[in-house]
Amino acid sequence: MTNTTNSFTNAALAARDLKHIWHPCTQMRDHETIPMVPVVRGEGPWLIDADGKRYLDCVSSWWVNLFGHANPRIVAALADQAQTLEHVIFAGMTHPPAVELAERLVQLTPAGLDRVFFADNGSAAVEVALKMSFHYWRNVGHGEKTRFIALTGSYHGETLGALSVSDVGLYRSTYAPLLLEPILAPAPDTFQAEPGESPQAMAARCLRELESILERHAHETCAVIVEPLVQCAGGMRMYHPDYLTGLRALCDRFNVHFIADEIAVGFGRTGTLFACEQAQVAPDFMCLSKGLTGGTLPLSVVLTGEEVYQAFYDEYSSGKAFLHSHSYTGNPLACRTALATLGIFRDEPVIERNQQLGAHLARRLAPLRDHPHVADVRQTGMIAAVELVADKARGVPFPASERRGLRVFLHGLTRECLLRPLGNVVYFMPPYVVDEGMIDHMVDVAIEGIAKAVA
Ligand SMILES: *Cc1c(COP(=O)(O)O)cnc(C)c1O
Repeated sequence: MTNTTNSFTNAALAARDLKHIWHPCTQMRDHETIPMVPVVRGEGPWLIDADGKRYLDCVSSWWVNLFGHANPRIVAALADQAQTLEHVIFAGMTHPPAVELAERLVQLTPAGLDRVFFADNGSAAVEVALKMSFHYWRNVGHGEKTRFIALTGSYHGETLGALSVSDVGLYRSTYAPLLLEPILAPAPDTFQAEPGESPQAMAARCLRELESILERHAHETCAVIVEPLVQCAGGMRMYHPDYLTGLRALCDRFNVHFIADEIAVGFGRTGTLFACEQAQVAPDFMCLSKGLTGGTLPLSVVLTGEEVYQAFYDEYSSGKAFLHSHSYTGNPLACRTALATLGIFRDEPVIERNQQLGAHLARRLAPLRDHPHVADVRQTGMIAAVELVADKARGVPFPASERRGLRVFLHGLTRECLLRPLGNVVYFMPPYVVDEGMIDHMVDVAIEGIAKAVA
């Protein structure tokens, strides 16, 4: 640490950072005017910067944190594992944390998901699910199935395969020439409902459209991939669970897989441990990451069923094995933090507490519905979003180039809040360890920020 400790101030760290580091999802030139915030410590839902200022992590550090930063229980498990076994090749070798984690996940996820494939981040899990679905159909004599159906406004990650089945222009359009072409089905996103159309009616309408797409394309389609209940990166767009129930039935009828990408919505975010539970459906593949380790280390899994597994299980010479690997597949440190996270779910009334916190958040956000520049206030469990518009009566959005949401972010920094809107959508996805007072503060600061943003 020689030569560095004296430079632990915001200004010094930010300057050193900007000399060498290229940050994700960032036009780096923005940092000529927007401060880079050097975080040196985390404590529960708070982040503390190098100057000692604190910020409430209203976005759970990109939706990964569940039980606060530096959570003692998770950290203790990590420290213990670090002194025992930090990593081992996961082909031909296994280790207790992976075995135990697989057993726990099979118990907790919907029935029928009995096989667990490990990877190391969300996008990788989506790649695995896409490849596994395609490879399954090939192994059972349906090599003609090569395509995927995704929903409008969906986001499944940013590696080329995952980006291929995503429909957020900001991330996709530049790379479109490199990507697979998905078949897009309309999302049952209630924000786009017809006037007077209920979420249920909209789900039914979108299912009819999906049915007609499947009539034309099922023969060439491997799977339909969706984010259950909330399309997060697409702007926290939400939909009725009926859509998932209908999707399950259509996938069965048309012989295509159902891939549930619960990377963002899993682990209690939507009010149940997994979002699929609200439709009482089991997908053919379930992708999990983000909250899996409580936000401590990168890890992901894809769960699938026995029938898929058996289609790969054969003589070596059959060439049917699933050959996909990452160096850090099933990392023991990450698996231990996941086990500690699941231990918290087992020992504490997390879901019940979230229901109370969610209800409080809903009460506090309700008055925003009458705001002249708020077109929608929506919420599913511990995800809430406020959609800002230029003209409420005519539903005209603010041009993206005006970056209204950025003003909310900048205001938040001055008021101890890390809010990071998605375009014109101000959203709240706090760690589950916030209390009602923190929710009050978060909403107050957002309302102030919105006032500045629409001025
Ligand atoms: C974040 C996210 C991913 C990608 O996960 P990474 O770990 O960022 O690669 C995939 N799907 C959904 C729904 C996500 O929110």
